Amino acid sequence: MHELGIVYEVIRVVDQFAKGNGISKVEKIVLEIGQLSQAIPRFIEECYPAAVDGTEYEDTELEIIVLDAMAQCQECQEIYNIIDHRKICPNCQGESYELISGQEFNIKEIIAQ
Ligand SMILES: [Zn+2]
Repeated sequence: MHELGIVYEVIRVVDQFAKGNGISKVEKIVLEIGQLSQAIPRFIEECYPAAVDGTEYEDTELEIIVLDAMAQCQECQEIYNIIDHRKICPNCQGESYELISGQEFNIKEIIAQ
């Protein structure tokens, strides 16, 4: 499970940001994770308490916003969710598409107390 490593990395980045901006206590971290990201939101959530246990982030809340995997059909330009539609355009049944979103992994917000 590589999510634990990802959570440690997130904490490291947040910590650097907090220290660099004079934030002594982070109340909440908001992550944006695409449906096609290598990180699985549910696993990130599960790892988080263990990763922050005994650290200054123990009481910091974690919120995850999941971004849909959207693509645009190259044949009819329809925009659709490629997971819901199993990579096949619901309008023309075309199979060539260009990915618009879904691979994100961003630290969207760091909320100071
Ligand atoms: Zn189409």
